[in-house]
Amino acid sequence: MQRRGEFRVSVNKDYLVFASAHFITFAGHRCEGLHGHNYRARVTVEGALNEEAWFVFDFVELKKIMRKLCDEIDHLVLLPTESSRITVEEKGGTVTVGVDGKPRYVFPREDCALLPIPNTTVEMLAQLLATRLRSELDAHGARGLTAIEMEVEENFGQSAVYRVTINTPS
Ligand SMILES: [Zn+2]
Repeated sequence: MQRRGEFRVSVNKDYLVFASAHFITFAGHRCEGLHGHNYRARVTVEGALNEEAWFVFDFVELKKIMRKLCDEIDHLVLLPTESSRITVEEKGGTVTVGVDGKPRYVFPREDCALLPIPNTTVEMLAQLLATRLRSELDAHGARGLTAIEMEVEENFGQSAVYRVTINTPS
């Protein structure tokens, strides 16, 4: 059997969705109001075949991990903790959000996902999910993976793709 070449496996399921609230800042002083999306994630993992199983990575595991990552932020307000304009402060079970130094929202802590990104754009969400997926795959003992491509869609036909290549030691 041919040993060269690479394979890609993709997961694109109706349940890989998260319905979340967010707002983003734009260049200059513009800032959106709070609103929500039914976000949808799609993932492609590339790599060498696992030569015992003849697959790149177990679909069942990949789907489970992706479902878990989506569930972690489903039904929450997504807030960036690395923004230069949006401040997010946790205190006594609440999260106070300010924009450009002015108070904007107060949420119960359990309704928020504080994310280590500078803005909750689909680009940053895709990168965050890819990073999370990569550490989960490492923890699951995935070997020989060469790339992860994560797509996050916030509206029909409106999505961002983040691709990261993984240098596997040979
Ligand atoms: Zn939006």
